[in-house]
Amino acid sequence: MKGLKEEVIPVRGIPVVAGFKWSVGELMDRFIRELGNKKILGAKCSKCNYTYVPPRAWCGKCSAKMDANNLVELSGKGVLIGFTTAYVELDGNGNFRDLEKPKAIGAIKLEGADSTIFMPLIDVDPEKLKAGIMVNVVWQEETRGQISDIKGFKPEG
Ligand SMILES: [Zn+2]
Repeated sequence: MKGLKEEVIPVRGIPVVAGFKWSVGELMDRFIRELGNKKILGAKCSKCNYTYVPPRAWCGKCSAKMDANNLVELSGKGVLIGFTTAYVELDGNGNFRDLEKPKAIGAIKLEGADSTIFMPLIDVDPEKLKAGIMVNVVWQEETRGQISDIKGFKPEG
């Protein structure tokens, strides 16, 4: 644009430390605990049948209230809707560092779910990835009932 001064602003880091401690709610709490049993729970709306993963207390489509009776177990299999590739990561102190190998993060729609989850794709070459392929969950060897129990998703076959 003419007349506007262009400037590159160097960003040395993101000096943000955010600590949180709050209840994630009954359904999210169950979701996280069941990851420890290698189970992925979703919530299926009894009014419009839309299935959320992770589960949520209110249906965003029809506003129906959901509770533990709406929980359904989903398979660890899904379709890769899209993905992005990361070349840097945060070092824990708010600074970026280059990754030795780029990491792919996928938007995955699990079988039986209508919403998507975002998870690392493992054992993949980001250059060769294609949306539409089937992927399977890969669990950590030891699960503890936390989000990181899911190591990521891996292409089928
Ligand atoms: Zn609904």
